[in-house]
Amino acid sequence: MSTNIFNINDSHRLQTKQLDVPPRLLLGPGPSNAHPRILQAMAMRQIGHLDPAFLKLMDEIQELLRYAWQTDNKFTIPVSGTGSAAMEACFANLIEPGDKILIGVNGYFGNRMVDMAGRYGGEVRQLNRSWGEVFTMEEIRAGLEKHRPGVLGLVHAETSTGACQPLEDIGNLCREYDCLLLVDTVTSLGGVPVFIDEWKIDAGYSGSQKCLNCPPGIAPLTFGERALAKLRSRKSKVANWYLDMTMLMSYWGSERTYHHTAPINMNYGLREALRIVAEEGLEARWQRHREVSEFFWKGLRDIGLECHVVAEHRLPSLTTVKIPEGVDGKTVQKKLLNEFNIEIAGGLGELADKVWRVGLMGYNSRRENVVLLLKTLQTAIGVGD
Ligand SMILES: *Cc1c(COP(=O)(O)O)cnc(C)c1O
Repeated sequence: MSTNIFNINDSHRLQTKQLDVPPRLLLGPGPSNAHPRILQAMAMRQIGHLDPAFLKLMDEIQELLRYAWQTDNKFTIPVSGTGSAAMEACFANLIEPGDKILIGVNGYFGNRMVDMAGRYGGEVRQLNRSWGEVFTMEEIRAGLEKHRPGVLGLVHAETSTGACQPLEDIGNLCREYDCLLLVDTVTSLGGVPVFIDEWKIDAGYSGSQKCLNCPPGIAPLTFGERALAKLRSRKSKVANWYLDMTMLMSYWGSERTYHHTAPINMNYGLREALRIVAEEGLEARWQRHREVSEFFWKGLRDIGLECHVVAEHRLPSLTTVKIPEGVDGKTVQKKLLNEFNIEIAGGLGELADKVWRVGLMGYNSRRENVVLLLKTLQTAIGVGD
């Protein structure tokens, strides 16, 4: 007689093969290929999230993040989630219903900022520019003057357009207007110069799977003193329990109070990623990204292809390449993927069907990848031969 009073339904009992995936070269807007050392670190055995050995590792991650971001900010932590989680954490914590916020929208991620800020009750105002352009100091000053926002949100490296927003003097401007500067550094951290303290950025966030080459699932965040002051003076509770930094502070700070279980192995991975950044050194790393991209841009010219963004504002970690007249972008992408195991992406929004997006991020920013991509692109579209 059966001990089970229910009949087991086997209709979903899929018999499937052991996991195997194609060996892709990930040259799109992210994820980039994980560095082998990072994958190895992630396979390390578990410890508890309050184990003294893990607490030590948390301190190391925070310290290495401060190096990568060039900041002394005490509150510098990895958020459990992808870049969008760290992005949402910034809006959830720094905005209260009715707060005015000004966002620079010149690409897909500016629009996502607008969406998030609105969901937390922010009164959102926008500065707008075509996709691929950047904002001038004068435009930003005029926006601050007109709207008097409590927060200005900008995307440093717009992954949807390949443009790099100059940030050097904007922090000073924001202080003049008593406004917090919040910056998306997802596609710049670890690949393109970012100076959180020097540039007076009050809050920043990033992701793991772009120039840091750690798989997606963990996302750096940093708040300076002015952002923390805003957080402390909130009248309402942070409207997102999981991303409430006032609670997470006790876990990443000295009290070590449980909030949620840290994704242990993702932290192993991020630690190794940041160790690799520190080993190479920021200057060498930024220079490598620039040199490899310039080599790519020259190669594109040589086969008759053009970049969408003017050279002055072109992002070393992500290039938008104009799709030539008469060529179907998606067919080329499919060919690269199916015949050569290379992933690149198409455009979004204003740039849909107009550009390809090519990422040369971190570990993937190497000349041999450029040579391979140029050759296979040429084959796939039949140009320049
Ligand atoms: C990738 C990206 C994000 C979002 O990160 P996810 O890891 O996809 O959640 C945010 N901003 C920019 C600029 C990005 O490139």
